[in-house]
Amino acid sequence: MAIATVNPATGEIEKTFDPHSPAEVERRLTLAASAFATLKGTTFAQRGEWMRSAADLLEADVDPLAEIVTREMGRPIGGARAEVLKCAKGMRFYADHAEEFLADEPLDDPSKVGASRAVARYQPLGVILAVMPWNYPLWQVVRFAAPALMAGNTGVLKHASNVPQSALYLDTLFTRGGFPEGAFTSLLIGSAEVAAVIEDPRVRAVTLTGSEPAGRSVASTAAAQVKKSVLELGGSDPFIVMPSADLDAAVTTAVNARTVNNGQSCIAAKRFIIHEAVYDAFIAGFTDAMAGLRVGDPLDEQTQIGPIATASGRDELSELVDDARAKGADILTGGSASDGPGWFYPPTVIAGVTPAMRVHLEETFGPVATVYRVKDADEAIALANVNDFGLSSSVWTTDAAERERFENEIEAGAVFVNGMTVSYPELPFGGIKNSGFGRELAAAGIREFCNLKTVWEA
Ligand code: NAP
Repeated sequence: MAIATVNPATGEIEKTFDPHSPAEVERRLTLAASAFATLKGTTFAQRGEWMRSAADLLEADVDPLAEIVTREMGRPIGGARAEVLKCAKGMRFYADHAEEFLADEPLDDPSKVGASRAVARYQPLGVILAVMPWNYPLWQVVRFAAPALMAGNTGVLKHASNVPQSALYLDTLFTRGGFPEGAFTSLLIGSAEVAAVIEDPRVRAVTLTGSEPAGRSVASTAAAQVKKSVLELGGSDPFIVMPSADLDAAVTTAVNARTVNNGQSCIAAKRFIIHEAVYDAFIAGFTDAMAGLRVGDPLDEQTQIGPIATASGRDELSELVDDARAKGADILTGGSASDGPGWFYPPTVIAGVTPAMRVHLEETFGPVATVYRVKDADEAIALANVNDFGLSSSVWTTDAAERERFENEIEAGAVFVNGMTVSYPELPFGGIKNSGFGRELAAAGIREFCNLKTVWEA
């Protein structure tokens, strides 16, 4: 894939970039390794100061940076601005908490292990490669980079080929904040060059956020090198509504949860599993609200739904909807790509889904919702767990026993009750099953790329 900004609202190429030569990749890896030698000797206080200063720079750039995001991947401009500000918040969060998250953990009674003192100590691993997707081109990267750098690791980014300007902005952000040159660097390379970077002895571990095939490939290469990997892959999150729920709130949140970022979020609610007692009322409100969303130019402040980020992404979405229609689904609204320039796809609601349809098990990466009618919590849980994903989930009920069952029995990395799934710096984030392994954010996220060293003193 060419490394280029192609505006999804127009389909026009705005800027192309030459990939880095092998010599340039080598230079950047050398810099990353030498920056690690410096960074691991610095204090949390020093790194925190650099991180806060980088956060200030990012915040000051909110408007031009948000415009880059919108032009590269089509997110409506208000959301793009919110993404920039969320990154600054995440950076400050780790500047404030890294030291506490990575503090020595002493054993209360070291005599039990025959020691005068025994502690578990977190130490950085070295150069970490991050392979990242375009859908939140800043936040996906920052939620890796902020904890990695605060732990004393250095980061090398291979960003998605369609967001090079975001990658280049991030390339200099941390050194502008004060981190040593090479502490965080972007490689403009294609996916075919990733394996060689993982195999490079200076690279100690890899994290990938993206699709399942990319995850399998990267994790296999890392495993062959006995290097750690963290995978944040796709999802097809259930959104369950039971009779006791506040239906108006559930409908409003359902629309938002499905269409955030033009529906291109791994943790977007994708399958709506509705109890039969409230099914008709939910469907009426949900379909109306989806149909009423304003689709258009993502640079227009009034736009709620912009284009799909790539031509191939829109084609894949169209194929999933066409397959469902051909096999007898009811398309309650939307259902066909718009004519004209840009890769727009309208908010779409599909009912009457059967196991024969691809949408039943596959991820819809765009504003397309499937709705199911169920008769009780058992059926809702079985349907929620039917596919191979396990990222997050949202359940709507005020019944305590039901809530307990959903929290315990849904196979996912998270359950949000009476609210939509959101990634917060304060909470661990990640999936199970084919949605990946390992965690980002919170204390768990910063510990992923640390050596937990046991220290025993006689
Ligand atoms: P993708 O094709 O897997 O791309 C993600 C990154 O991996 C890009 O940098 C891509 O580079 C690279 N890549 C692709 N194939 C590779 C390979 N074989 N070896 C090494 N690197 C490879 O993902 P996408 O389609 O752009 O993103 C959408 C997917 O990401 C969805 O499934 C979504 O659910 C998932 N996602 C998950 C999370 C999460 O936190 N769990 C968050 C966001 C998105 P090129 O661009 O150069 O191909």
